Amino acid sequence: MGQQIERVSGLGFTHLHVDHVQGIQAVCESKASDTKRLIALHTSDQFGIHNLHTADQSELLKNSACVQQIELADSVHSSLQFPGLGVYPLGGHTPGSTLFAIPIENKLWLLSGDITNTKKDLVENNAKGLIYSYVIVPENVKRQEQLRVWLAALDAQKNISVVVSHDAKALIKSGVSKWAPPKNNER
Ligand SMILES: [Zn+2]
Repeated sequence: MGQQIERVSGLGFTHLHVDHVQGIQAVCESKASDTKRLIALHTSDQFGIHNLHTADQSELLKNSACVQQIELADSVHSSLQFPGLGVYPLGGHTPGSTLFAIPIENKLWLLSGDITNTKKDLVENNAKGLIYSYVIVPENVKRQEQLRVWLAALDAQKNISVVVSHDAKALIKSGVSKWAPPKNNER
């Protein structure tokens, strides 16, 4: 984003696995590094409950010079800082896995993180497999199944689109606009 990174005022993490959080170091080293300038919204589960694969990234965020962490109370799913943005605890993939709900014009975008690794697996209710879910990335497989069914039903609705973190092809197909620098009169 170059200089445009200064326009970013907040961050949301679907969960605290290293591949979703490590970019914060580059962000803080950039021009956005003014002390605690970036607000990160966390559910209380994401803020407080960690496992072997999320604890280090929780520390990374706590010690990050450019991030101000805000923990939402259990019954609170929105914030004063980002009105209209919904933040919901999911669990399943990690204890603190979180859904971000973003209404834009007449469409609701749901960012589901790594509940599945592909959109196809979400729509078809495919589990990731025992080796993945028990050995590589310990997950709550029962909860994951509940979430797949629920999210697939939402995705089937006309004005709702579920976005899966690691499925770039599905992301492009979803119609999310690619980030582009603003034109001069929009700066
Ligand atoms: Zn993950």
